[in-house]
Amino acid sequence: MLIFAKIAELQAFLSEKKTLGLTIGFIPTMGALHQGHISLIEAGKRGCKLSVCSIFVNPTQFNDKSDLSRYPRTPEKDIELLKKANCDVLFMPTVEEIYPEIEETRFDFGNLDKILEGEHRPGHFKGVAQVVKRLFEIVRPDKAFFGSKDYQQVLIVKALVKQLNAPIEIVPCPILRDADGLAMSSRNTLLNDEERKVASLIPKMMNEAKLIVNTRGINAAKDFIKNQTSLHDLMKLDYYEVCDEHDLKQLNDKESINKAVSLIAVFVGKIRLIDNLKI
Ligand code: AMP
Repeated sequence: MLIFAKIAELQAFLSEKKTLGLTIGFIPTMGALHQGHISLIEAGKRGCKLSVCSIFVNPTQFNDKSDLSRYPRTPEKDIELLKKANCDVLFMPTVEEIYPEIEETRFDFGNLDKILEGEHRPGHFKGVAQVVKRLFEIVRPDKAFFGSKDYQQVLIVKALVKQLNAPIEIVPCPILRDADGLAMSSRNTLLNDEERKVASLIPKMMNEAKLIVNTRGINAAKDFIKNQTSLHDLMKLDYYEVCDEHDLKQLNDKESINKAVSLIAVFVGKIRLIDNLKI
């Protein structure tokens, strides 16, 4: 695996490969890698000739500065995991390399960046769009692979590519879960044993709530999630919504719920976890 920290060196390498006709599959990450990330590398390898992973903890997408300072960083372990997965290229830039100057970027995502994560983490998607645009301009991939764990992010990135008119295919990949159902996340490593146990209730609640949506409706499911989360001192619900799976418009009991997804954000202790489930 080749590791680059400098944009110019990465681009020189990639442009040579592009002239040979190799397709580039890009997997942007913030490191502290787990099998969920590795499944994206594998999808990238299946879909393209050359897999390029980036590790960059993007400060502009953190609305909560303590979340940024405690974000886990495990570069040596990440490199080992990527080598094992036969990733071809790793790009690990510094903040100065990515943002030599603060560039004000404006996008129009309509309502999509104002609801759910956008509402609860102000400025988050502006930061995501900024870094994804920058990374796409640097790597210029044929395809980019994103996890459906960050469901709203996939829709934002698809909308971004459309606005930029960039010839990049966005490939959503399934959520990888631990044996007890908890969606894998870099933030899970920040949970203590008790918090980790409580966190494993999240997917169970989501599954039960899905059954309730289909039998007693969305409001009953919301009440169920509110109740369940309030039973545990360590849990604090940020939101649980049932939305149209294409535009994340919030659904209610009067609408047909053919193509819906339920999305949750919940604090376990100080750690904010998200998950989603198609209904
Ligand atoms: P992050 O490092 O958290 O920014 O995530 C980098 C990429 O990995 C994003 O596209 C995430 O959606 C994806 N990802 C994170 N967790 C998982 C998971 N459990 N399963 C699949 N993809 C994931």
